[in-house]
Amino acid sequence: MIRDVMDLHTHTIASGHAYNTIVEMVKAAGKSGLKLLGITEHGPAMKGSCHPIYFRNLKVIPRERDGITTLFGAELNILDEDGHVDLPEEILPAMDLCVASLHIPCFPPKSLEENTNAYIHAMKNPYVNIIGHPDDPRYPVDLRAVVEAAKENHVLLEMNNSSLAPTSFRKATIEGYLKFLDLCKQYDQPILMGSDAHVDIDVGNHGYVADILEFAQFPEHLIINTDVEKVKPYLNYYNR
Ligand SMILES: [Zn+2]
Ligand SMILES: [Zn+2]
Repeated sequence: MIRDVMDLHTHTIASGHAYNTIVEMVKAAGKSGLKLLGITEHGPAMKGSCHPIYFRNLKVIPRERDGITTLFGAELNILDEDGHVDLPEEILPAMDLCVASLHIPCFPPKSLEENTNAYIHAMKNPYVNIIGHPDDPRYPVDLRAVVEAAKENHVLLEMNNSSLAPTSFRKATIEGYLKFLDLCKQYDQPILMGSDAHVDIDVGNHGYVADILEFAQFPEHLIINTDVEKVKPYLNYYNR
């Protein structure tokens, strides 16, 4: 069993298509035995999500509650091949952590080269800490180039548990993941398991991903979730 103390990719009702409050998500994190929770609402380009002012005001929320550290940030939408994202530059430094992802409504899938460039350029943004669900087969990418860029820009690559759920829109494949993990091993690039929970019961749910990591015998030192200390060098919150 992989030790797992964090889930840094979750959504609350503020995202517009998720169903629990911050307090409920923190409670669920406690039940799952997590030490560190990340709440990363969808950026404003996602229909129904929050206005930039919501992100600007996250400073009012205490980061410590019920023995759990909760960090607040955004799941930014990558908007174009140049890696532009959907929060203004002056708000980004206030984000404890930023995931950056490609979503169909904000970046309809393009060529392999364009999708790859979108990820690589987003990773050059110093406030982007994590690439969310790079496992999405609807966006073909040059995986080697993505892993190389992650290494170079000190960005984490997520293994997204929701992408593997039978109900997922993304339909990530085990074969795709095994290729991805093989490259991460070659480049000594760590991965982060994320639930992408849109409801409280999914907080800390990394079951599908953990099974693949165990099957692949992926080295523990490259699994960020095992120790809070491992993630600190990567997140805005710990490097201000
Ligand atoms: Zn996403
Ligand atoms: Zn998400």
